[in-house]
Amino acid sequence: MEDRLNIAILSLHTCPFDRPGSRYTGGMNIYIQNLAQELGRRGHSIDIYTCSHVDADFCTLVDGSENIRLVHIQSPDYSSISEKSLGDHVSGLTDSIASYCLEHNKHYDLIHSHYWLSGVVGSKLKQRWCIPHITMFHTLGAVKNNLGLGMLEPDYRILNEEVVIRASDLIIASTQREKHELINRYAADPTAIEVVPCGINPAIFRPIDKQQARQMCGLPTKKTALFVGRLDPLKALGNLLEAISCLKSRDDFQLVVVGGNDHGVDFKAIMDAACDYDVSHRVNFIGSVPHERMYLYYNAADFCVIPSYYESFGLVALESLACGTPIIATDVGEVRDIAGICQSCKIITGNTPLELSTSINAMLDNIGNRKNGYNKMVELYGWSHVVDRIIQHYRAIIDRNAEYTQQLCSYKS
Ligand code: UDP
Repeated sequence: MEDRLNIAILSLHTCPFDRPGSRYTGGMNIYIQNLAQELGRRGHSIDIYTCSHVDADFCTLVDGSENIRLVHIQSPDYSSISEKSLGDHVSGLTDSIASYCLEHNKHYDLIHSHYWLSGVVGSKLKQRWCIPHITMFHTLGAVKNNLGLGMLEPDYRILNEEVVIRASDLIIASTQREKHELINRYAADPTAIEVVPCGINPAIFRPIDKQQARQMCGLPTKKTALFVGRLDPLKALGNLLEAISCLKSRDDFQLVVVGGNDHGVDFKAIMDAACDYDVSHRVNFIGSVPHERMYLYYNAADFCVIPSYYESFGLVALESLACGTPIIATDVGEVRDIAGICQSCKIITGNTPLELSTSINAMLDNIGNRKNGYNKMVELYGWSHVVDRIIQHYRAIIDRNAEYTQQLCSYKS
């Protein structure tokens, strides 16, 4: 049996077990859940430090695993963080985690942080505990700003990303593209970056009968295009609605939108856009769906559209193809490689509503038998395979750190 690792996972931006599809909960939450569950299943001990939220117990065992604890600590609402308050928040979060660990006699082999805010706290804890820190950014502020869409990411985020990049023992990037962005925009050291893709849970994402899936989702039996994601401007749902409006002469299909909730400004903006483009009657807004039920929507659809301007990876592409549903997508994240596995997929390069509508029109005229991408997806991206690689990196970094500490001790003595 493998040595048991004690790992502190930091997810201070959002609770990984919150329902995905709202403003701050998406692929990163799914990533952390799956990573922890696969590590826990192998007998490693995982404590996930995350922000407290309504109805959350302070510390709780994650259902189905005695090896994973979720520790909710008092942390600021992410949207309230400002340049002025950041230093206090970071010290507060670092102190809360350190005191909890002292009180409960917790010791770790490694810290694995997710997103820049956790990266900053991870860097501080690394210094206090003298253990290695591996980080993943999931999205990068400088890349988002370069697109110039939505609200600009503040300078302090980008400066702190730089600090985390220099202070971490290893950065895991989910694509080669992300690795290049880290090198080109942040001057990261290429030897400190390893590329490991995101994974898919084969027990959830699998093909089932399309009509049965439609029935289970309560959807009409009609040709169906699907959009899945947070209602963030980077996801370009507005472009998709405009593309649908270019297909006025067709009344043989519906667009199903999964994700988003009806409280936010983003939801209101999308509803307004649907009215402006006069497509409300063709769009079925489902809202956010529990992750375990997502396979039903992918199976109910004839194809899935990913019009995004930016994806750090593109989990939706992976999930869709594992269910046998082809995609029309922009060339973002890992999506081109994923789409390459199934011939019926279409990658568009221009990301204009016109180009999208042309591809949707063609796809609607060519709805064929489902392609089974399941086996290939599991072979390349199954969580078990992804976690094998992550553990190899954990062990390599832990060993390197131990050697370094030993050398340091021998110099001192
Ligand atoms: N998702 C979900 N329920 C929803 C909307 C999305 O479970 O209502 C999941 C979806 O299945 C995928 C993730 O959220 O696993 C979104 O992944 P994406 O790569 O789009 O990540 P993001 O850009 O949101 O971080």
